Amino acid sequence: MKIAIYPGSFDPITKGHLDILKTGAEIFDKVIIAVARNSEKKGFLPVDERVKLIKESVKDLDNVEVDSFEGLTIEYAKKREAKVLIRGLRAVSDFEYELQLSQANSSLSSEIKTVFLTTKPKYNFISSSTIKEIYLNNGDISKFVPEPVYEYLKNRNVS
Ligand code: ADP
Repeated sequence: MKIAIYPGSFDPITKGHLDILKTGAEIFDKVIIAVARNSEKKGFLPVDERVKLIKESVKDLDNVEVDSFEGLTIEYAKKREAKVLIRGLRAVSDFEYELQLSQANSSLSSEIKTVFLTTKPKYNFISSSTIKEIYLNNGDISKFVPEPVYEYLKNRNVS
């Protein structure tokens, strides 16, 4: 069984993330989308809320599991018996950081490989930080996030 991990902050999950996840779920037998509990990074939404929103957004995808983890991604991947990490690429600007990260991970653990996926062009520019910016300035984010995220943010005053 080919298991892949899609790690990230997902703060919040966007339609770009979801598109990557769907492609991953077509390629691999199982994809675990895993929210990193990074204590140094002050989040917009609490990790448990992010996990809940992802679960609601992926409920139609049978071979996707939602989880969170602390510490090194490769250690988490080993624990979950996954040999592949999925990361998304939007533009050249992502490339340098993502390449560095994948090389650091493969030097820590050579049997874990990173694969890069891209989204449909219409989702390519979407990032969690752009969405936060639009939301905090009272703009319409409905086109950029899955329905559960839209409803959650609409009904709550998050800042
Ligand atoms: P991180 O904090 O680990 O970068 P993110 O939640 O911002 O976590 O992103 C997780 C992964 O998804 C990253 O590899 C990022 O490049 C990718 N990603 C995010 N948005 C998009 C998008 N619109 N198109 C393609 N990849 C994306």
